[in-house]
Amino acid sequence: KNKRPAGLAKEPAAPAAPQEKEGRAAKRQRLDAERRRLPAWSAREKLVELVKDNQVLVVIGETGSGKTTQIPRYLHDAGLAQGGAIACTQPRRVAAVTVAQRVAEEMGTELGGKVGYSIRFDDKTSPQTRIKYLTDGMLLREALVDPKLKRYKVVVLDEAHERTVATDVLFGLLKGVCAARPDDFRLLVMSATLDAAAFTRYFNGAQAAYIQGRQFPVQVMYTSAPEDSYVDAAITAALQVHCDERPGDILVFLTGQEEIEACERLISERGAALPPDPDRSALLVLPIYAALPPEQQLRVFEPTPPNTRKIILSTNIAETSITISGVRYVIDTGFVKSRSYSPRLGADCLQVTPISQAQARQRSGRAGREAPGKAFRLYTEASFQQLPASTLPEIQRTNLASVVLQLKALGIQDVLGFDFMDPPPRAALLRSLELLLALGALDTRGELTKPTGERLARLPVEPMYGKVLLASGEMGCAQEALAVVAMVSTDVVFHLPRGKREEAAEAHARFRSREGDHLTLLAVFRAYTDVSKKGHERASWCRAHFINPRAMRKAVDIHAQLKEHLVALGIPLQSCGEDSLPLRRALVAGLFPHAARRQMDGSYKVIATGQAVAIHPSSVLCGKKAECIVFNELVRTSKQYARDAVAIEAAWLPELAPAYFARQHANAGR
Ligand code: ADP
Ligand code: MG
Repeated sequence: KNKRPAGLAKEPAAPAAPQEKEGRAAKRQRLDAERRRLPAWSAREKLVELVKDNQVLVVIGETGSGKTTQIPRYLHDAGLAQGGAIACTQPRRVAAVTVAQRVAEEMGTELGGKVGYSIRFDDKTSPQTRIKYLTDGMLLREALVDPKLKRYKVVVLDEAHERTVATDVLFGLLKGVCAARPDDFRLLVMSATLDAAAFTRYFNGAQAAYIQGRQFPVQVMYTSAPEDSYVDAAITAALQVHCDERPGDILVFLTGQEEIEACERLISERGAALPPDPDRSALLVLPIYAALPPEQQLRVFEPTPPNTRKIILSTNIAETSITISGVRYVIDTGFVKSRSYSPRLGADCLQVTPISQAQARQRSGRAGREAPGKAFRLYTEASFQQLPASTLPEIQRTNLASVVLQLKALGIQDVLGFDFMDPPPRAALLRSLELLLALGALDTRGELTKPTGERLARLPVEPMYGKVLLASGEMGCAQEALAVVAMVSTDVVFHLPRGKREEAAEAHARFRSREGDHLTLLAVFRAYTDVSKKGHERASWCRAHFINPRAMRKAVDIHAQLKEHLVALGIPLQSCGEDSLPLRRALVAGLFPHAARRQMDGSYKVIATGQAVAIHPSSVLCGKKAECIVFNELVRTSKQYARDAVAIEAAWLPELAPAYFARQHANAGR
């Protein structure tokens, strides 16, 4: 969906963005003044000194104090990047992109020049780049080819409190880099939470520096009874604040794109139905989430036009990763979408879960950055008390296959003995080792296999999809597998606009394959890429077929990059044409741990774990009677759903994954 429903406010015809009216010099001046007002500014000399004197420094500072945008620049200006570059990691892609953009602007340079960013499938850097913002996952990938990270003089591990798997692994790797490069390497660990102890302890008593922030009081409000629907409650609360409270922008925490889009629409509709009031300002509703194109992400940072109140609908991104000025009111639904590994299910699942108390405090704090504010928690005080104090580090709860594979590729044999700050459960590590063994990435001694393991470690996709790609080379369908993996890696392509659902469903029907969602996605990809790239032909094709053009452009991009990888690996790029059999077999070769068999009562059971699952209502296989399927992922809502499934022959399983199904007893799922 490329067109956002308009906010209540007609966007000003001539955008009020001062950026456009003011000249270059005036803009530099304004940005400089803003920089000087940040709490980090007064600490800059001390910070530079501390970095010069200490190989490892832990920096603690309130969100919005200027850690991410300013500190890499201070180090750069002090000459600490000389002969190399400064890397600053971000757990979130949105933060890497928007922050790089901001810093480039502040330094008066083009993005991709002195300042750049690098995220998976999108690299905006050049040999001139001195300050590089990148996702923690990307730095981990770079370490595969450059284990000592020689191109960097300084690495900043930002948002360390988020404790993503990649950051946690980087802790261990960078500890090693510090030991190997005592004289020409510096490490900064930056965090928004006051608890520096865990970090300093891990880095053998490293020095810590605190940035004195300012925080205004925030009045916290709870609901008196639990809400039935937090989305509904959030909309009501936002409009209530708009009607009753003094000026100031509103930040609403939701869990994902679909929810945000629904909210955007409903706020506009309900806002338009409010009784008129000449004193009330106009409303401007702006979304921010990872899949939003960068230009649109940056819109939330534009100053609010006069006589307008901004409502920002955000995922967890705005909790600590990015700071939007002008926010005086926070609406906290109390939920977050997170990926976690369920040992019971033997798979990762994406799930909406309650936040922790620490997250709730952090969210509320966003209302008091510039003036006293108010936070509306859409849950009761009693439920707040029952929330966990802090969030479990991701490494304790996700699928570690890809990380374990990378550690192995880095030459770290003893994964169980790796110096983790908080070691993941042994059982989870063992399970990833088993999966990698089943995929043929490791041998029975736990060593990386050649070429399979090495190749899987290089492909920037989950090992299971990597295996699909490798197998497709042997089965003569790499063209199709590339398209399918690109399509499952992009955002949702099928657009079902409200009021036009039937029309859209009809348009989508021509792509439907009886054999499954992967083949349906392949049909979309083929039809799209058959349309000429010239002019706006692809865009109008998307409109006519209710396909998300942005998701398709991204898929084409991912396709091109994965293709380069396969070419580099010498995988033959053949096509199986209209015969789906080779492709379905290639999918089984990688996704076999997610095979499920149909039961007498029509439900499905995952063969490896015995877990009952239902086929997701969005699947073309929903309501069909496929005997056996493999699927991409599990989604948990009211029950466990298998999303993106393809029909297969049960007999392929022992044939394509003999060791796995000998051990798992191929009949367990019956
Ligand atoms: P911290 O890392 O300590 O949380 P940041 O460096 O991210 O702080 O933010 C410092 C300031 O820079 C904030 O006031 C924020 O609003 C501003 N800022 C960051 N990115 C952008 C952007 N893309 N556009 C405008 N302002 C931005
Ligand atoms: Mg930051």
